[in-house]
Amino acid sequence: MSAYYIYKCTCGYERERYRNVKKCPKCKGELKRMEELKGLVPGRIVHWVCKDHYPAMVIKVDDKVSGYCVLRVFGQFPTDDERVECAFDEKCSPNTWHWIERE
Ligand SMILES: [Zn+2]
Ligand SMILES: [Zn+2]
Repeated sequence: MSAYYIYKCTCGYERERYRNVKKCPKCKGELKRMEELKGLVPGRIVHWVCKDHYPAMVIKVDDKVSGYCVLRVFGQFPTDDERVECAFDEKCSPNTWHWIERE
């Protein structure tokens, strides 16, 4: 199905490609291929970031490479059914999600 990959460079260059590419056309640096996020399925509990890290359940997965999905967040909103849409970010930027840290 989705046979494309996202390639990223440290200079900020980012592109979707079907073929294997290794060098950044802007800075000639090494491109990093972003893999599909394994285990990203509805029902998985992850952390969603506001100021703190909140537990959130994956409701719907829109893109397994960027990790863009719909989450239901627990403990942050006054109502129980608050949903957010956001992408994966291992650097824990605001309004992103990541796998729950191991202690
Ligand atoms: Zn570059
Ligand atoms: Zn966390």
